[in-house]
Amino acid sequence: MVEMRKPIQVAEAVRLVIAHVQALGTEQVALEHTYGRVLAEPIIAKHDVPSFDRSPYDGFAVRAADTVGASGENRVAFTVIGEIGAGYVADRAIGEGEAYRIMTGAPIPMNADAVVMLEQTVEGTDGFTLRKPFSPGENISFKGEDAKEGELLIEAGTLIHPGTIALLATFGYAEVAVAKRPVVGILSTGTELLAVSEPLVPGKIRNSNGPMIAAQLDRMGIAYQSYGMQEDDLDACAAIVEKALAETDVLITTGGVSVGDYDHLPAIYERLGAKVLFNKVAMRPGSVTTVAVLGDKLLFGLSGNPSACFTGFELFARPAILGMMGSQTPYVPHMTAKLGEDILKPNPFTRFIRAIWEMTPEGIVAVPAGFNKSNAVSSIARGNCLIVLPSGTRGYTTGMTVDLLLLGAEQGVGEWVL
Ligand code: AMP
Ligand code: MG
Repeated sequence: MVEMRKPIQVAEAVRLVIAHVQALGTEQVALEHTYGRVLAEPIIAKHDVPSFDRSPYDGFAVRAADTVGASGENRVAFTVIGEIGAGYVADRAIGEGEAYRIMTGAPIPMNADAVVMLEQTVEGTDGFTLRKPFSPGENISFKGEDAKEGELLIEAGTLIHPGTIALLATFGYAEVAVAKRPVVGILSTGTELLAVSEPLVPGKIRNSNGPMIAAQLDRMGIAYQSYGMQEDDLDACAAIVEKALAETDVLITTGGVSVGDYDHLPAIYERLGAKVLFNKVAMRPGSVTTVAVLGDKLLFGLSGNPSACFTGFELFARPAILGMMGSQTPYVPHMTAKLGEDILKPNPFTRFIRAIWEMTPEGIVAVPAGFNKSNAVSSIARGNCLIVLPSGTRGYTTGMTVDLLLLGAEQGVGEWVL
């Protein structure tokens, strides 16, 4: 008799997975290796930024008081007493009618309180003239205007991107406390599977899920261990799952989670004593997506159908892995778009459609990326997003506003829309 499974809603399934995520602890990492990691400590300004008043332009540092009354008819003259390049400091304060030639990034000399841009002057032999007054503080990049010493700038749990690295470098973090990353195992199950390099033979297909998941992990900067392909043999499959679990923090399997005669993953979970969080999700594709936990390890049983496999990874595995590596904002980023095509087929389950979004004069428009069944592989290749169509009896027509899940974004978000 075929087992009856009770579907749970996608958002509930995601919540269940996240509720079982355990962070892996922290480690110190050299700054140049922190891209894509998650901060385990907040960034608190160690000093003011900038740490001294400086010039934002190439020009002349002057006393604003000396520019009072300057106009086209009454040009005011200044004597240049020296030059300050970036990285140097002035050797003396300026006096009345004096100016320093100053370069972008150089510290403002004592007594100066304005910078005149080169373009605003007419240069003479030992100085220059100007035709407009400057107010105190004009064209000065003030100490602490960007960040004040002691200020909390970035929270712990934030993904490190190039901008974060700039900030860490600014404060002299040669090493950074980051959350540890999980090692993820990948196992493709199915007697029909051939290696990528093998010629096609009747009844067989090449394993596309394994390389796809490896790349989905790659773009998150996550190390993986591949357990290759495994025929649909219960004992052999159970043995390799067990071995993989001993060596990794998370195991992603593809195929074998349905209710077919050769779908052995459910029996393997039972054998291992893993707790199945859910084995049916109210979504298309990927309704058979199963997630189980064993101790502190997560097992993602993704459908063998390529589109379902891809979607299951992005919806469940990605946020869980981001959560394990410390992210406080692990969810897939989303935005809304106008539907560029009718999608009239009603669906009892939430539908995720591989799609392409682009900016048009009418705003952001998304259209399906071609053949869109759960076994499709071509539309995954063409798509840059997933259109989310909530379940219901109605279809969706061109111009309706829909949610999009964005793929490949560096950073996640902290809320969940579905
Ligand atoms: P399953 O989830 O095992 O029932 O497989 C569903 C469908 O996906 C079947 O048509 C399989 O042949 C196909 N499939 C399973 N594993 C893979 C894989 N690694 N790469 C591509 N297709 C697969
Ligand atoms: Mg199978």
